[in-house]
Amino acid sequence: MSKYWSEFVTRLDPYTPGEQPAINNLTKLNTNENPYPPSPAVMDAMRDAVNDDLRLYPPPNADQFKQTLAEYFQLTPAQVFVGNGSDEVLAHVFNGLFRQPQSILFPDISYSFYPVYCGLYSIEYNKVPLADDFSLDLNDYRQANGGIIFPNPNAPTGRLVSLPAIEALLQANRNSVVVVDEAYIDFAEEGASAVSLIDQYDNLLVVQTLSKSRALAGLRIGYALGSAQLIEGLERIKNSFNSYPLGHVQLAAAVASFTDRDYFNAMRVQVIDSREVLVGKLERLGFAVLPSAANFVFVRHPEHDGAVLAQALREKNIIIRHFKSPRIDQFLRISVGTPQQNQQLVDALDEIISV
Ligand SMILES: *Cc1c(COP(=O)(O)O)cnc(C)c1O
Repeated sequence: MSKYWSEFVTRLDPYTPGEQPAINNLTKLNTNENPYPPSPAVMDAMRDAVNDDLRLYPPPNADQFKQTLAEYFQLTPAQVFVGNGSDEVLAHVFNGLFRQPQSILFPDISYSFYPVYCGLYSIEYNKVPLADDFSLDLNDYRQANGGIIFPNPNAPTGRLVSLPAIEALLQANRNSVVVVDEAYIDFAEEGASAVSLIDQYDNLLVVQTLSKSRALAGLRIGYALGSAQLIEGLERIKNSFNSYPLGHVQLAAAVASFTDRDYFNAMRVQVIDSREVLVGKLERLGFAVLPSAANFVFVRHPEHDGAVLAQALREKNIIIRHFKSPRIDQFLRISVGTPQQNQQLVDALDEIISV
């Protein structure tokens, strides 16, 4: 609190990110980062970008990166928006597309940044409860709204909504923007992304990030794909806020990441395979594991309290995410690590629960 703050700032309720501890010997499974490094081609591209041109501003419209994304997703550059992490892209979406007379809709259990943006931009919202099994039924969203947003796969549950269910919603919901936050879509089955529906539905916006499947959380790069009119709306916000959200080094890395498809696919498949092995081991320890299409699992043990387990893991230098929120306070969200990290986690849990 400070007397210099406006009433608005005093009333804000900011997001709390998962911790990034400085200690090195931690097994860090708390923020869904990729356990593998970025592609060597990305590293080379960044080194090449460290040159005298850094005295110049970067290209304000990120033309080459937009062109790369357009080719990758078979869209046009006018259907592509880029930003400083998908969190910034999402902030512009709330500011530019969701300030509507009616309330927007999102799941009660979902990415906890959504209500924060609503607070920042004075947007009314209704939370739509997930089913008892934590699945997301898009039929529940067939009601008057000023916009709809949900992560797919959902966070922190990891559950996936099918593409036909998304298309059915788009058919029923023609008059407001539907945003699918696909931060984890590369860990789902092929063909799960809503990008394939963009040319048919001009109110669909798909948001993705290089932070998870492309192992570049530290560079802050995200993007949105949708109709040219939605993208133009976002550009108007961006150019009223910061004309250069991505610098030379970020842009070089971003282009290289989408060019090196082999490395990307190998790492993606590795994480998916490790997830399946981890799920089997956790189930053998008696954990209930929600079906995950992401690079994390959401689990609970019927005989052990979630907060107690999280604390016991921390004492063994393993950090995972525990949310003290209604409905999910018995769950642990565990990022999929390397096979060795996953085994450390399983061994630690085995010790903790067998006491
Ligand atoms: C991680 C995450 C993001 C943010 O990604 P950045 O690009 O790193 O800002 C957005 N949405 C969801 C659901 C996420 O889990």
